[in-house]
Amino acid sequence: MIVPLSQPYLGEEEIDAVVAVLRSDRLALGPRTAEFEQLFAQAIGTKYAIAVNSGTSGLHLAVRALGLGPGDEVITTPFSFVASSNCILFEGATPVFVDADERTFNIDPALIEAAITPRTKAILPVHVFGESADMEPIMAIARKHGLRVIEDACEAIQATYQGQTVGTFGDVAVYGFYPNKQITTGEGGMIVTNDEAIYDYCLSARNQGRATDMQWLTHVRLGYNYRISEMTAAMGAEQMKKLPQIMALRHEKAVRYMELLSGIAGLRFPDGWTEPSHSWFVFAVRVDAGIRDQLLDILNANGVQSKAYFSPCIHLQEFYMRDFGYKEGMFPMAELLSKETIILPFFTSISEEQMLYVQTQLQAAIAQLHLAV
Ligand SMILES: *Cc1c(COP(=O)(O)O)cnc(C)c1O
Repeated sequence: MIVPLSQPYLGEEEIDAVVAVLRSDRLALGPRTAEFEQLFAQAIGTKYAIAVNSGTSGLHLAVRALGLGPGDEVITTPFSFVASSNCILFEGATPVFVDADERTFNIDPALIEAAITPRTKAILPVHVFGESADMEPIMAIARKHGLRVIEDACEAIQATYQGQTVGTFGDVAVYGFYPNKQITTGEGGMIVTNDEAIYDYCLSARNQGRATDMQWLTHVRLGYNYRISEMTAAMGAEQMKKLPQIMALRHEKAVRYMELLSGIAGLRFPDGWTEPSHSWFVFAVRVDAGIRDQLLDILNANGVQSKAYFSPCIHLQEFYMRDFGYKEGMFPMAELLSKETIILPFFTSISEEQMLYVQTQLQAAIAQLHLAV
């Protein structure tokens, strides 16, 4: 048996919706884009949502909307997908890493103030794995020092923190819809904000710097083509209609999975993920760093598609080390999490049989490794 690492949750609704767009004569900037945006803003609880062609494009526009550039420092986490830091580099600003907190896997608020300098302009927390960063102290620090906040919520659709939906804390937040995310459009992203100026900027900048009331060939600022197509947006709107069902299924499956795997010695589960505040993105467990890579080899050889996540950390990616002088040992918690964490197959439609297969294979692999040491 092969159990895939992830799998999109799509039905006839998405297929019909894409085909209907193809049969229409409106393939871009049409009603399905507006609908996707409206459903998204409603689900998060923000005034505005702007659809873009990837999460990375959305992060780039968020950084530009706040006017961050050369000489500015942005405090962020090294334990993330590389795009959350690259978006700062796109504009020539400097990412300043702060180590992760062991419980949330996210930026440790206790370490933020020591990293603030006169050049610090913003904080960019990431809600990795669908678990909210510790937003209360982060927002308090931002207010105290007059810093803007960009939330990378790409992995955390509808996660909450103290009852408030993630993505509504900062000035602007960004989501992604790559096929491994909770909902997918193949490629795609969404920016959300309550700030009209940010909204106006993002609408214009995603569309070649046009003003909404202007002619097609009149441009008021430097812009990009970060638009999504109507086919993509139609898929997104259909996925949004299923979001409550998708979130409920993911929660139910994850709880069952944890029950099945909790008897296996040597696995450690992240704290608090079975709470309704968590948005199930991946199923992550921690194992002994000494057996991690061998365990992954055995699992993958036996059809249990698993990965080291996030490994390496952003500061240990080759070009970050080369261009910024980052070295191993600088962010010990992020590095520890990076050496111990694996993600197991997990997706909305994972079956009992597939979860049982993972349980059996994991049990056998760990027994084999412990016998070997
Ligand atoms: C998925 C993701 C993104 C955006 O990815 P795209 O592939 O550009 O849509 C950004 N940050 C994090 C943390 C992500 O997981």
